[in-house]
Amino acid sequence: MTAPFQHVAIIGLGLIGSSVARALRACLPQVRVTGYDTDTDSRTAARALGFCHDVNETAAGAVVDADLVIFAVPVGRMAQAAAAIAPALSPGCVISDVGSSKADVAAALSAALPGYPIVPAHPVAGTENSGPEAGFATLFAGRWCILTPLPETPADATARVDALWTALGARIEVMDAAHHDLVLAVTSHLPHLIAYTIVGTASELEEVTESEVIKYSAGGFRDFTRIAASDPVMWRDVFLTNRDAVLTMLQRFNEDLTALQAAIRRGDGALLEDWFTRTRAIRRSIIAEGQDDPEPDFGRRH
Ligand code: NAP
Repeated sequence: MTAPFQHVAIIGLGLIGSSVARALRACLPQVRVTGYDTDTDSRTAARALGFCHDVNETAAGAVVDADLVIFAVPVGRMAQAAAAIAPALSPGCVISDVGSSKADVAAALSAALPGYPIVPAHPVAGTENSGPEAGFATLFAGRWCILTPLPETPADATARVDALWTALGARIEVMDAAHHDLVLAVTSHLPHLIAYTIVGTASELEEVTESEVIKYSAGGFRDFTRIAASDPVMWRDVFLTNRDAVLTMLQRFNEDLTALQAAIRRGDGALLEDWFTRTRAIRRSIIAEGQDDPEPDFGRRH
């Protein structure tokens, strides 16, 4: 298979950056992969793990001769990361990223790197773990990767980034950044906010001890704790950069929560049962789409 790029530079070698590097080595072994991370320990770990041909001591050094640069840093760091490579970029190098919010990142990348073809991307795949050790080559297999090209992005740059993610096993959807941010606000950002809230609430109760919360967590709480263990810096930046869409969805959520609260107070069992029947159907659709494990209890061994 002809690779859409010859040399991919990855800036940020944590969970997602290292997974992209590993997937490239596994799926497109002819592509040269270089990388850089501001964290010295992550650079050392990346060298030891060997998923890049070269881990450079500077961001500018990592992108020399690259025909694609992928930023895999927290979304609040994209502008700074882009500014650091600007002087070393080859003409025509395609610029992409993996950030969880897109309108803000697209604006930051275009301001820092004017004139370069920019194809923002969001692989909708991840885990609650961080760092180069947490990555794995099959993270993107069967998962969606959303591309949000700008109006001025040349079509062939989008097509090449599409081909790259397809080679890594992802399924591709193209949409505008504002729509991406609204959709992800409800499917990802709001669920994380709810998990962070409920885990924080439970840990601050006076009438229930922390050991009781942990002991009886299988009643539902522990599934929220997995999401609430996600990287604090990454999620701080997601909420700060996708503020409007998150606030819109949060308003809708609050209205629905109030409706359920009223149903419980009124003893309106029909409303509750109808609501829970609809939500169960959504879970079944996710499994039918291959986006989660059909095993009971998320496939946990008992
Ligand atoms: P991560 O494991 O914490 O890795 C990010 C790495 O980037 C860290 O080692 C960080 O170092 C480094 N970094 C920060 N600023 C940098 C800079 N200017 N130049 C070079 N390296 C820099 O985070 P991640 O989970 O891979 O997330 C990376 C991106 O992927 C984020 O934009 C996130 O929104 C997106 N994403 C994440 C997931 C997920 O499930 N985690 C899923 C899809 C997309 P320091 O620790 O020193 O800051």
